[in-house]
Amino acid sequence: MSKANSGQNIMVILSSPSGVGKTTITKKIQQKYNNFKISVSHTTRPPRSNEIDGVDYNFISEKKFEELIKADAFYEYAKIFDNYYGTLKENVDKMMKKNDIIFDIDWQGTKQLSKFKELKLIKLYLITDSKEELKKRLLNRDQNTKEEVEKRFNSFEEDVKHWNDYDYIIINKNLETCFKQIESIILTNKSDVIGSLQKVQ
Ligand code: 5GP
Repeated sequence: MSKANSGQNIMVILSSPSGVGKTTITKKIQQKYNNFKISVSHTTRPPRSNEIDGVDYNFISEKKFEELIKADAFYEYAKIFDNYYGTLKENVDKMMKKNDIIFDIDWQGTKQLSKFKELKLIKLYLITDSKEELKKRLLNRDQNTKEEVEKRFNSFEEDVKHWNDYDYIIINKNLETCFKQIESIILTNKSDVIGSLQKVQ
């Protein structure tokens, strides 16, 4: 297992329209680089059959989520497909002391996180080259109801309008190639951080 981290920790945001393969890539990065931790979001969406509370998401009620909003406990949150999703400040602050972090969040969350200038963010937007392929993936995933598949598919146009807010756009045509591109971006940014630290010293 390699270790990408030896300087200041970085934060990678990976956004994409639903079904482009973001979760697979996120997990692959974490498996290869053990210094990377995935930020586990809070959500009011019900768990899918293959999801584990505390691992895939922290599943909470709408009432609890709204209490957390009032308490200003989130770095960012958004309502997506009728459910809340958010990143708890406490979790990130704890992780960032020791680890690099990957956020699997949407464009709304990315905009909000970007306001925290002290966070060293690398913003990646993952896209598919074919909408047909996207629909196939959403249907094959079979953890979504038909209605959920439609909602996610129809959000594609709105979602891609925001690619401009990102540092890199990556096309996921082939999983291995896409992963290598992301890996190279991460390592380059990591060495930039190390380089700038050395200059300061
Ligand atoms: P899903 O319901 O398919 O797991 O996720 C739906 C969308 O919510 C995905 O685009 C995912 O990136 C986004 N998402 C997941 N967690 C968060 C979060 O904490 N904040 C925001 N803004 N988006 C999130």
